Amino acid sequence: MDVDLAIVGAGFGGSILAMIARRLGLRVALLERGRHPRFAIGESSSPLAGILIEQLADRYGLPRLKPLAAFGAWQRAYPDVVCGLKRGFTYFKHEDGRPFSVAADRSNQLLVAASPNDELSDTHWLRADVDAFLMQEAVAAGAEYADEVELDAVEWTAGGCPVLTGRRQGVPFRLEARGVVDATGPRGFLSRALGIESRPFNGYPGTQALFSHFTGVARCDEMPEYAGAGLPGDAPPYPVDDAALHHVFDGGWMWVLRFGNGVTSAGVAVMDALAQELRLAEGEPAWHRLLDRLPTVRAQFADARPTRQFDWTPRLSYRAAAAAGPRWALLPSAAAFVDPLFSTGFPLTLLGIERLASLLESGAFFDDVVRSCGSSDPPLGAQSLDAYGVTTLAEADHTARFVAGCYAGFPRFDDFVQYSMFYFAAASYAEMARRVAPEHAAAGFLRAGDPVFASAMRSLSPSDSGALADRVREAVDSVNIAGLCDSRKRNWYAADGADTIAGAPKLGVAPARVAGVLASLGL
Ligand SMILES: Cc1cc2nc3c(=O)[nH]c(=O)nc-3n(C[C@H](O)[C@H](O)[C@H](O)COP(=O)(O)OP(=O)(O)OC[C@H]3O[C@@H](n4cnc5c(N)ncnc54)[C@H](O)[C@@H]3O)c2cc1C
Repeated sequence: MDVDLAIVGAGFGGSILAMIARRLGLRVALLERGRHPRFAIGESSSPLAGILIEQLADRYGLPRLKPLAAFGAWQRAYPDVVCGLKRGFTYFKHEDGRPFSVAADRSNQLLVAASPNDELSDTHWLRADVDAFLMQEAVAAGAEYADEVELDAVEWTAGGCPVLTGRRQGVPFRLEARGVVDATGPRGFLSRALGIESRPFNGYPGTQALFSHFTGVARCDEMPEYAGAGLPGDAPPYPVDDAALHHVFDGGWMWVLRFGNGVTSAGVAVMDALAQELRLAEGEPAWHRLLDRLPTVRAQFADARPTRQFDWTPRLSYRAAAAAGPRWALLPSAAAFVDPLFSTGFPLTLLGIERLASLLESGAFFDDVVRSCGSSDPPLGAQSLDAYGVTTLAEADHTARFVAGCYAGFPRFDDFVQYSMFYFAAASYAEMARRVAPEHAAAGFLRAGDPVFASAMRSLSPSDSGALADRVREAVDSVNIAGLCDSRKRNWYAADGADTIAGAPKLGVAPARVAGVLASLGL
């Protein structure tokens, strides 16, 4: 046996899991096809991702990982590892061919703060920097790292142990381990090597993406088109560009994510019909065709220059038919992907890492007997690799249902705004529950394991007519601790500690307990 755990893929997911496995005393091999530093997409973090990093770092004694949980600590610890400020989620709704201007009632924008200040802010990760840093941390923790490895196959010993074979820099490569985790992303190594079928999400629209990095992207808050809509004395809850900025239009949306080094990540995710109209496969010309439809976005990109080629993803969503089996598992990011909307990739990946870490810690990862969950509603905590696989796919399916609802809402922006409250309510509740009442966070990502919440989300859709706002408000009420669904706020939601303290009973704790946590964060 060469190692205990083979981790294939040294993106942030593979490297963080490698660091944890080392802390658990396992011998770890981390195998990467490419070479760091290298470009990777998936850059916008979120509050839930931040607290997962913080808690994984605390639990597994990884103090050097912890500063990546928030902007202030990150800047102090690693000023050379490039990231950007993400104070919230900003959305502007554009109409084809018409310049954008802010509606007086703010009905064509939504601002939801994710943090009260820059210190605690989420971040945009320049993945070339962050992933190289984390790989080095994994190596420093004792993982054996091999890059430029081309794996061809996985076979199993008589004792059920995986043997990975391929070539490294032209030389035959072979590694035997007690278990293997695939961290290679969608349609990755184990999916191919094990012949795992792809099973598209039920009812999910076909979507494609086109993206690059740019310099010279203007800030919306310096463009007159985006000014206004505050009452006298009103200021937006955070600078609108220091956020995951979304330009929403019928059939899709664009992300604009600024890094601290003057580079901006931007790309679009669009439904197939629009992708065909734009001829998205052509890359940069299609980008300009899209900008031509959105005059105010075109103005924002007037001086922008791409710093790399455009990448086209002909099919954005992916779902494997299985995510785990005896002695093997796909990270959530290898098992499924829905869409960049709402930055669900990082927290799902980190939740998977948390669950796999606990299986490695208990030894259940190496159990040969696959325990059946024995129920059509399996628990969302992972007691076994089998349960891990079921949970991973259930959360992906739930996320896909939500994102499909958002796409349906884009043409009627107010419906999208109302429907988005499912995400904001569940995410803000999960974040605080992790701090004060972890048992309330056990419902899984976006409350996939909360039957009442999940079925309300399933049964309501922005394509339904009538009273969506009231129905969503009622559906999320039990987890709304962020003052969401409040028409008086006219689509501007600040991070207000008073709302969270008032929501303490929904977390099953006293208001003083929440106030204490906020005070410990300096609020
Ligand atoms: C267009 C787009 C935008 C996204 N935006 C966001 C976002 O804003 N926020 C968010 O939370 N999520 C986003 N995501 C999802 C996000 O990219 C993933 O959740 C995240 O990258 C997962 O990290 P990872 O380390 O598990 O895998 P990856 O980042 O996919 O890394 C996989 C690694 O494995 C290596 N590899 C691949 N194949 C092999 C092989 N056969 N052998 C060895 N190594 C291999 C690769 O070189 C790479 O280093 C986005 C995804 C897409 C497609």
